[in-house]
Amino acid sequence: MPAFPRRKHIAVWVLPFLISSLTMTMLVGALFLAAVKADEAAARRQEGLLQFIVANLESSLAHEQESATVWDDAVKFARLKDTDWLAANLGEWMHTYFEHDAALVLKNDGQVIYDFIADPSAGPDATDILKVALPLTQTLKRRLEAGQRSDSARILSIGESDLSTIAGRAAIVSVKPIVSDSGEIIQNPGDEYLHVAVRYLDGKLPGRIAEDYRFADLGFSRSTGGDTRHSSVALTSNSGETIGYFRWLPFSPGSSVLSDVYPIIILVGLLTFCLMSLLFHTLWRRSLNLKASQEELEHLALHDPLTGLANRANFSLTLEQRLLSLPQSQSLAVLFIDLDHFKAVNDSYGHPVGDALIKEVASRLSLVAPSAFASRLGGDEFTMLVEMTEGEDVEQLARDIIASLRNPFPIDTHHIVIGASVGICISTPEVAADDLIRHADIALYHAKAAGRNTYAVFGAHMEKLLRRRREIETDLAFALEDGTQLEVHYQPVYSAGDGEISSLEALCRWHHPRYGALSPDDFIPIAEESGLIQKLGYFVLEDACNLLSEMEALDLTIAVNASAIELMSPGYALRVLNTLARYGVGPTRFEIEITERIAADGDSRIADAIRLLRSAGVRFAVDDFGRGNSSFGQLLNLEVDRIKIDKMFVDGIQDGGGMPLIEAIVQMARHKGLKTTAEGIETKEQREVLTMLGCDSLQGFELSRPLNRSQVVKLVTGTESQRSRAV
Ligand code: C2E
Ligand code: MG
Ligand code: MG
Repeated sequence: MPAFPRRKHIAVWVLPFLISSLTMTMLVGALFLAAVKADEAAARRQEGLLQFIVANLESSLAHEQESATVWDDAVKFARLKDTDWLAANLGEWMHTYFEHDAALVLKNDGQVIYDFIADPSAGPDATDILKVALPLTQTLKRRLEAGQRSDSARILSIGESDLSTIAGRAAIVSVKPIVSDSGEIIQNPGDEYLHVAVRYLDGKLPGRIAEDYRFADLGFSRSTGGDTRHSSVALTSNSGETIGYFRWLPFSPGSSVLSDVYPIIILVGLLTFCLMSLLFHTLWRRSLNLKASQEELEHLALHDPLTGLANRANFSLTLEQRLLSLPQSQSLAVLFIDLDHFKAVNDSYGHPVGDALIKEVASRLSLVAPSAFASRLGGDEFTMLVEMTEGEDVEQLARDIIASLRNPFPIDTHHIVIGASVGICISTPEVAADDLIRHADIALYHAKAAGRNTYAVFGAHMEKLLRRRREIETDLAFALEDGTQLEVHYQPVYSAGDGEISSLEALCRWHHPRYGALSPDDFIPIAEESGLIQKLGYFVLEDACNLLSEMEALDLTIAVNASAIELMSPGYALRVLNTLARYGVGPTRFEIEITERIAADGDSRIADAIRLLRSAGVRFAVDDFGRGNSSFGQLLNLEVDRIKIDKMFVDGIQDGGGMPLIEAIVQMARHKGLKTTAEGIETKEQREVLTMLGCDSLQGFELSRPLNRSQVVKLVTGTESQRSRAV
């Protein structure tokens, strides 16, 4: 699981927090706005209601008066100034039933004939009331004198009312005439007695209204008092004068809903935050995982999985980029490093050990040249890119690398000794990246050819060789297609005992249109490197099988030379057996010569191919035996049928040094049940000595040169001159 970078980790929490906060703010904002609007509407409604209540109170007061003022008895008892009756019907009674706070009965001249004050201790007396009621009584008198009558069936008599302040107390004051209900008592218009009713707005009334209409904390106040919590409605007189205010705590449905839903909103906010965090976290983790796997893929695409070094593509790319940005005065060096005997390590100790060795090589290379850009191209091939101006420095580095890799590698319980060859190429402005690598490879090739554990710096002569090499490669590809330039010659091998031809060795010849006859030593290595060797091998195989089928009657064997690459290729063994079968040739008449190095290499694919072919009857010979540096004992343990003693030993017969060695080889081979062939015999003396030493068969110019097909057919069918027959 990839670790979260701290900054990004914070973002995983901060972003959901911001988003959920924003969402919450918007939600709360919208709710708040709705609540404010609802509260405002409710406040307006309460204001309107209160204004209506006050207006209603005013009209109710007048209406209530009418219950006693429009009554014949009232007219009668008022004229009699019967205060008991007046108290019982127009004073206390009104207080008891309608809660009127005060009442006056005035004579037609305005004189008070009766007064009732519900709570004398609470303030205004009859004089105070009369003073305030006076303008109303005068107006009413004028209206009465003018003969005005009520035009509504609901209102029995006309009256005057107003909101006023009576000795500091706000009140509704209503004046009504005391009139006959039957019309039987004659009253002159304007002469009617008057009844004044008072209801204080600052006493118990607000409490009653609050109770009836559910106003909270309703009260009377002289001023609004700057209190923002309370709503207020002004109480104004008919003349527009404000006598005070009703103030109450407004009903706020919005705010109360809001406060109810606050916990839910907080819960929703928290939930949103959690969900967002989870979502972001998951998304972030996914994107991190994606990024990590992308990076891993990118890393894999550019790195060697075993060593962690750059791979071939990465090396080429880096080299190209470095070349582009390289200052004129500087140059780069490419080192091509190849391990010696790595294959043997792999096959002898197993792949895990081989892998461990490769890893150790990589870390040694990094230690020797820490600033170099190193890569593993594959197998046991490494490259390095170093920025150096002095050629000598690069050569010293190559020497250091070789020295470092020659030190034994302690892996598991083994102490493995390998070596390395290094090819160096120093950049010049006109050489492209790929060519630099190739040149370093060519230099490596030269280093190997010069003996292992050494280095070579690419030079112009190598380039010429390279050009020729390329030319030969192209021409060989063409020649293999064309089929006219290549020919197989056969060199006879003679039995030492009876001097008869026992076998023929197929040797490839190429008549190059420009260079003439080219030696196999010139083109076989190129064919091997360019992958053309398989085609060439099949060409020789076909020819050899064809010849064998032609000489069916003769007891002859044909040997072909095979390269390691051919033997390694998966279909080789089957291809050989198929070809033999196609030509009707028994496998026992066929022999394959392999070099000492191939035989000793121990590559499992080669070993498998040899085992398969040998089990089918095909024979194997180790060519140029003794030329390499493997021990005889080791070589004689190989799964082969014959050894071909190298020309080097045969040449040594002259000075006497070769004989004991050949004798030892022959003895050992015989002991192991192997046949021996001596090759490169050029003199009679050599032939005799080798026969005497017990070699089974002999080959060399002294006996016969390689011959073309018709010559060899003639020779083996006995039509060739006796001279070509040996012994
Ligand atoms: P080789 O298999 O050891 O073949 C023997 C070489 O020694 C041949 O050279 C032959 O012409 C040469 N030779 C034989 N007798 C004498 C002698 O008395 N004196 C001297 N000086 N040389 C003698 P050639 O044909 O030039 O082949 C060279 C090598 O090329 C062969 O060595 C073999 O390893 C390789 N080769 C040739 N043809 C093929 C082929 O078809 N496939 C493969 N893979 N390799 C081939
Ligand atoms: Mg050979
Ligand atoms: Mg040979």
